[in-house]
Amino acid sequence: MLRKMSTPILTGIFACGLLAGACQSGKTLHSAPAPLASPDALATPSTQPRVKNVIFMIGDGMGITQMTAGRLREFGPNSKSRIESMPVTGLAHTHSIDDLITDSAASATALATGYKTRNGMIGMLPDMTSAKTLLEAAAEAGKKTGVVATSSVTHATPASFTAHVALRKMEPQIAEQQASGNVDVILGAGLQFFQPMSTEGSDRRDNRDLLAEARENGFQVVRSADEMAAITDGRILGLFAPKYLSGLAGEPSLTEMTNKAISLVKDDPDGFFLMIEGSQIDWGGHDNDPEYVIREMIAFDKAVQAALDFAEADGQTLVVVTADHETGGMSITKGSFGGDSLEVKWTTGKHTGTPVGVFAYGPGSLRFTGVFDNTELPRIIDDLWQLPDFPQVLSE
Ligand SMILES: [Zn+2]
Repeated sequence: MLRKMSTPILTGIFACGLLAGACQSGKTLHSAPAPLASPDALATPSTQPRVKNVIFMIGDGMGITQMTAGRLREFGPNSKSRIESMPVTGLAHTHSIDDLITDSAASATALATGYKTRNGMIGMLPDMTSAKTLLEAAAEAGKKTGVVATSSVTHATPASFTAHVALRKMEPQIAEQQASGNVDVILGAGLQFFQPMSTEGSDRRDNRDLLAEARENGFQVVRSADEMAAITDGRILGLFAPKYLSGLAGEPSLTEMTNKAISLVKDDPDGFFLMIEGSQIDWGGHDNDPEYVIREMIAFDKAVQAALDFAEADGQTLVVVTADHETGGMSITKGSFGGDSLEVKWTTGKHTGTPVGVFAYGPGSLRFTGVFDNTELPRIIDDLWQLPDFPQVLSE
């Protein structure tokens, strides 16, 4: 917490003087998350416990400034966010194979497969061959797997871990691959691509009922937070809105979905792999809307805490947090200490080529210090896991 402040008196002044508003609302500096184990405490690779489980968390469009805006709002300038409290940090480059500015499909494919590809491509290389995803490699090794998003589950990031298509807009086909696939946990939105065209709001061009097909394939299909809460084991496809989650009554929060996903996969003796995305930080950036960014950023930060809480208790779980790219060229140019009035400037309504943060906790986390290409991150996870055949171009 207040590692850089040596005297309690100063702490008090800062916490309850300049940040009086924060104190009154209970958001004191002391409400920051408890510090996690230091890198030293994680020991050398030879004495680190093996990596059994991996929770890979991606803030879509989450640049350093987006993280800062969320932190200022929730904790003020003198404390850290939950993500920032993770002990190991690095940076990642995000460009796609032929464009300095990536889109979410190419960057998620890089994070999922260990290969660069062209913007727009999902789990596929420029020559149209598919590349195995880390999730698929984990499943082959007998681990349970899952993806969680606040967008449609067919959107670029969750799709890149669970499907292979040439264009990200092929969401009906992505849904078909997910419904017929072997992922254990899929939580998010996207009913529009799973329901037959005869259903109002469907964006399918056929009458396939992918919810029924998913049930036949062994999924328990749920459509509300209450229905999700009632599922205590087995595979689950939870679609809580047609297009994206917006905090409506009946929808689960990202933290609730994260906790449910963990609870459904944690008892596999072979371990598990989960990809959890804060999908809409990016959309706040595209809208150049600081409040949207801050709201989504705080929600993602809380979900990371849920993962860290599990990892800390479990001791065999590696948590890696990163972003696919920055969105908006966001910059803070003025503001109050409490973060309630931030003056924000934007350089674009699109993505930028700035590097993004990498944060890690748990066994193997020391491997994530440094500056990386985004394709290195899944390769390091694979190396820690010693999975065969990853990265791998799939012949077909
Ligand atoms: Zn975007």
